[in-house]
Amino acid sequence: MKKFQIPLFYNSNIIDQIRRIRESKDPRKKDLSPSLIKIDNIHVYIGRHFGFCYGVKNAIEICYQTIEKYPNKRIFLLSQMIHNQAVNDDLLENGVSFIMDTHGNQLIKWDNINQDDIIIIPAFGTSLEILEILKEKNINTEKFDTTCPFVEKVWNRLEQISRKGFTVVIYGTAQHEETRSTFSRAKKYGPSIIVEDIEEVQILCNFMSGKESEFNVKKIFQNKCSENFNFKKDLAKLGVVNQTTMLASETKHIIDLFTNTLVLKHGEENIKNYIANTRDTLCYATNENQESTLRLLREEVDLAIIVGGYNSSNTTHLVELTSEKTEKTYFINSAKKILPNNSIKHFDIALKKEIITKNFLPKKECKVLLTSGASCPDILLENIIMKLTEINNITIDQKAIIKDFEMRY
Ligand code: SF4
Repeated sequence: MKKFQIPLFYNSNIIDQIRRIRESKDPRKKDLSPSLIKIDNIHVYIGRHFGFCYGVKNAIEICYQTIEKYPNKRIFLLSQMIHNQAVNDDLLENGVSFIMDTHGNQLIKWDNINQDDIIIIPAFGTSLEILEILKEKNINTEKFDTTCPFVEKVWNRLEQISRKGFTVVIYGTAQHEETRSTFSRAKKYGPSIIVEDIEEVQILCNFMSGKESEFNVKKIFQNKCSENFNFKKDLAKLGVVNQTTMLASETKHIIDLFTNTLVLKHGEENIKNYIANTRDTLCYATNENQESTLRLLREEVDLAIIVGGYNSSNTTHLVELTSEKTEKTYFINSAKKILPNNSIKHFDIALKKEIITKNFLPKKECKVLLTSGASCPDILLENIIMKLTEINNITIDQKAIIKDFEMRY
């Protein structure tokens, strides 16, 4: 895979060494067993795959190179480049401004943007409507488009299935930048609809089977389907594509629900005419990180720490997976959330706010699961490991830790 130029302050020496050792023993990345690092009485189980993915590295490289190359230009990002507070804060400090927030609300008016400005398109891509605004302003974004190729792959896939007469069903969060970008393309080619969870899919399946009223589905999906969507006609032939960071198990479940409903109507032998084969629209990083986390969960641990932006879709799914097995799962976005008095300030995804848990780290020997989302710099993991050792008054000897690790792998 291509090597990217990432600012050194995002790297971690200890994590780099662990990656290097694992890759040297397992270059094809087949072994999903966790990386165990032993630091005195704290045993940290790190996921085989975690942290910056291809698309994020690509976006970071383009952003920082642009800042360096064009010191006299105004540089804007359409919205957050990735869902990571630390990275976005650093870009702001380097003079980059965000035109919109993550929900698409305007922070800087289009009137204040002109053709001399540099506009960077984030890794999620952007909608056709926004590309049109930029075109009207004669702003060329080609050199500054960091749209991830795995997102573009979904767009290509939806175009193919739409041209074959299938209605595009997008499984994603309607407000997420990537889903808005994908939806804008799907609408261009034909009827399309966004489903946000299994419950919504079940409602559509019930409608398709005559067990739900049209009034109800119209109400539920009023802002989530293309203009003039005809629920009676447009749910006849379906193709499901994903926001690339959704849960793999749910994606499969959604396709199965639609398939089963259509099989009952048309029979197994005809199903290919009614549901498109689209099981490949999650990205590689989502699959790898989720599979590594599932493998991590085979370990009996005392607690789990998942690191990433609170609005990061892929990180939130890692938290969901982990919480099912480990009650003491703490979702944090920075090592600063680990407080010196053995408390942790962590994000509760159900309450949608940070809460504090006291005495979260056992003083005795303990096992900690640690992993991060695709937009999280490695240095955050290192800082977290340091904080854990500080709480238990352990002096860290990096060389000894790596030597011990290397001997075991
Ligand atoms: S998570 Fe996947 S789709 Fe998103 S930026 Fe990373 S590689 Fe691309």
